[in-house]
Amino acid sequence: MLKFLDKTRNEFLSDKLPSKLRSIVCDIEYYVNSNSEYKTLIVTSVFRTKEKQQQICKDLGKKYYASVHEYWRGVDIFIKDAPRSYHKKVADTINEVYPYGSGRFKTVVLHGSNIPGLGFHLHLQVNDQTV
Ligand SMILES: [Zn+2]
Repeated sequence: MLKFLDKTRNEFLSDKLPSKLRSIVCDIEYYVNSNSEYKTLIVTSVFRTKEKQQQICKDLGKKYYASVHEYWRGVDIFIKDAPRSYHKKVADTINEVYPYGSGRFKTVVLHGSNIPGLGFHLHLQVNDQTV
């Protein structure tokens, strides 16, 4: 089951989000539901304004850096009740299936969280070359 935090449902369904990003999220949901006892995935972030990104950087004590979330090319998800090691396994599996297609970047990255209470999460990103 896919659940959505706050306004992410409408953003996830928006035409601005590349459909392949939505497809990857649905593939992850299917993979997790089929291969584990974890049944709920929570979408925690889709679109982010530059102002929001600036605030996140500030909160992290970092200089501003642009995020793919500002360009509708990123989605963050969290597998409810799953440990960090399981998130890592999912990231590694999905990266084999969906190569990002450019440079050193990956389609799925295990990140710490900017959202209090939700811990680590999977950051998904695509570009025009992502298969
Ligand atoms: Zn992210």
